[in-house]
Amino acid sequence: MDATLAHQCPACDNQSMLTSQTQYEVEHFGVVLLSVSRCGRCGYRHDDVITLTNREPIELRAEIKSLEDLNMRVIKSGTATVSIPEFRATITPGQYSEGYISNVEGVLGKVEDALTFMLSTAKGQRLRKGKALLKKMRAARDSKPSFTLVIKDPLGNSAIVSSNLEKIKKRNLTRRELRNIKFGRYATASSVVRRDVLD
Ligand SMILES: [Zn+2]
Repeated sequence: MDATLAHQCPACDNQSMLTSQTQYEVEHFGVVLLSVSRCGRCGYRHDDVITLTNREPIELRAEIKSLEDLNMRVIKSGTATVSIPEFRATITPGQYSEGYISNVEGVLGKVEDALTFMLSTAKGQRLRKGKALLKKMRAARDSKPSFTLVIKDPLGNSAIVSSNLEKIKKRNLTRRELRNIKFGRYATASSVVRRDVLD
């Protein structure tokens, strides 16, 4: 663990945020830096991941076709947008979007959580549609997965990892896509180093 100097907390604006980073080895991929930030004043916490290999504005696409595919490692940074077109689900980075290391099943769980939260205030037609979608997602997780996981990361800190390289399709984001993609406020502030990709 290597602690840095105190910096500004995005929640309370005091110079009381401490960040520490730990290296983490992901099989078939390489080293990932897990960064954990905590504010000594208000207790705000923010986790993120930084990869040391890609560093390009990328779109990653994995066809999930079997229960085994659900175990693929996913490194999702705070700047990444996650979507599953078959479920018409997209999670864009919010203001303080966090990064994590999980697997496809874990990401699906997060999409389910987001949908469940949305449905807590939905009514009528929307509620019915949402419930049907949720059922479809659970079936995909429990028995017969058939969907596409898409991750767009303008800073290239995300990855989908499989021992079978053919499972993952990778391409660079276009300038137009970069202009329209959301980064998340905190992520943008902490990632000034890659601002050149937008110029
Ligand atoms: Zn704070």
